[in-house]
Amino acid sequence: MLSPDGHGSSCGLIDRFGRHVRYLRLSVTDRCDLRCVYCMSEHMTFMPRRELLSLEELERLARAFIRRGVTKIRITGGEPLVRKDIMRLFAALAPQLSAGDLRELTLTTNGTRLAHFADDLARCGVRRVNVSLDTLDLDRYRSLTRGGSLADVLEGIEAARSAGLAVKINVVALRNGTEVEVDHLLRFAHDRGMTLTFIETMPLGDVGVDRIDQYLSLKQLRRLIESRWTLSDLPFRSGGPARYARVAETGGMIGFITPLTHNFCEDCNRVRVTASGILHTCLGQEDAVDLKAVMRRSQDDTELVRAIDRAIRDKPRGHDFAIERNGTLPALSRHMSATGG
Ligand code: SAM
Repeated sequence: MLSPDGHGSSCGLIDRFGRHVRYLRLSVTDRCDLRCVYCMSEHMTFMPRRELLSLEELERLARAFIRRGVTKIRITGGEPLVRKDIMRLFAALAPQLSAGDLRELTLTTNGTRLAHFADDLARCGVRRVNVSLDTLDLDRYRSLTRGGSLADVLEGIEAARSAGLAVKINVVALRNGTEVEVDHLLRFAHDRGMTLTFIETMPLGDVGVDRIDQYLSLKQLRRLIESRWTLSDLPFRSGGPARYARVAETGGMIGFITPLTHNFCEDCNRVRVTASGILHTCLGQEDAVDLKAVMRRSQDDTELVRAIDRAIRDKPRGHDFAIERNGTLPALSRHMSATGG
């Protein structure tokens, strides 16, 4: 029987607003080898290692979500590829892909270690990868990431493409930077057949600077792009907040993710679990359910499934992010790196 969202199989995870949750973003660490200025403060305190879910617990959690109808899992962080033995998790979930219970297993990465892992990821059934890359300028990259090496990321992107992975480039739009580089980024991505997606900075976690100074509205950025390129909106949806346009001159796609100027919460089909097993059913609200505690209480999954079902039923209608000139206090105390970007 077809479920109301047309996915074929029935989905057990439906919230009070009738939204079907089929997409899990699973964070495997809050640590990262970069310190992007909009994401982390320079001296971050990370969670104690004992708080982290083990790889076995991550797998158990993923399987519980799959059993309840989740068909897409994105492994994220922090930087997922810095988690020790992370390929064991991908390998453990690969059979779920072959069996068709999971339609997509993917990851979001900063790309610094992608050259090392691209072939293994492809072997585990990963077909697409999102790489976060905000600039193609060596010095700006080093300064935005507080010390990262652009060469490593470029090498990672090439390795992913050679391994047959489709690569999407995610750029956080930052004032006094992205405007200058937008053409270069667009050509870089589209010359290689990669979609380029811009994201508005979201007020998540204290990063030690006033976010209003970083914020560049995508409305403004799009106007700038349209002054030089011909965009036509596409009906294509990835089930997420991105809206896409085709660039006539390159044939490639640009995505725009605008949590601040628009939110698309009515279509939201996703939830997030942190590396310590906290389930957040909305990126922009403080709701939280401790699945680690539930898992560690019993080896049987009955209570775990019940806790997941209950949390999904209570998924908030949406978020209400705002950036105001009110000092450095963020709208939410959680960093993106802790929630799982
Ligand atoms: N380390 C991986 C990466 O770099 O893609 C995965 C985690 S990272 C937190 C996921 C995404 O969140 C990255 O594209 C990053 O640029 C984005 N991000 C982090 N903080 C953000 C913020 N405050 N607003 C918007 N995007 C943010």
